[in-house]
Amino acid sequence: MTDAGSASGCFFCAAVAGADEPLLVAGDPATITVLNRFPYNSGHLMVAPRAHLSDLLAAGDDGAAALMVAARRAMRALESAMHPAGFNLGVNHGDAAGASIDHLHLHVVPRWGGDTNFMPVLGATKVLPELLEETAARLRHAFAELADVPEPAELPPAQRL
Ligand SMILES: [Zn+2]
Repeated sequence: MTDAGSASGCFFCAAVAGADEPLLVAGDPATITVLNRFPYNSGHLMVAPRAHLSDLLAAGDDGAAALMVAARRAMRALESAMHPAGFNLGVNHGDAAGASIDHLHLHVVPRWGGDTNFMPVLGATKVLPELLEETAARLRHAFAELADVPEPAELPPAQRL
């Protein structure tokens, strides 16, 4: 368990603090979104709270909701910029599950038909056809353009759970 401040040596806290992070692509008052330097696939993003929270349980309902809001925005940016056929979203929760950084983050991995059959669990990386900095630039542009694109229409009330 960690406090809700920042932790020295933490990649996400350094990005939040404004350190020069070329793979930072988006942010809001509660979260940041960065490209994974060791991606499972092109456009592999990680959404993290600005506070150094150890896991999803520490984030509370509001923190978890903010993470999901940012993840949806990331999906929309990826759809606009890279046209994936699907996504994997996931959190590695705890050492036994492969959590490698003690700062909560949600993976948003775009998928295309035939890329791989299974999302690699640990440390697997792929040779990517595009430089990470180029991908980051494309995604920053896509995030910026989202402001001009309306959210997908909400379901009418009768269709909500
Ligand atoms: Zn941190």
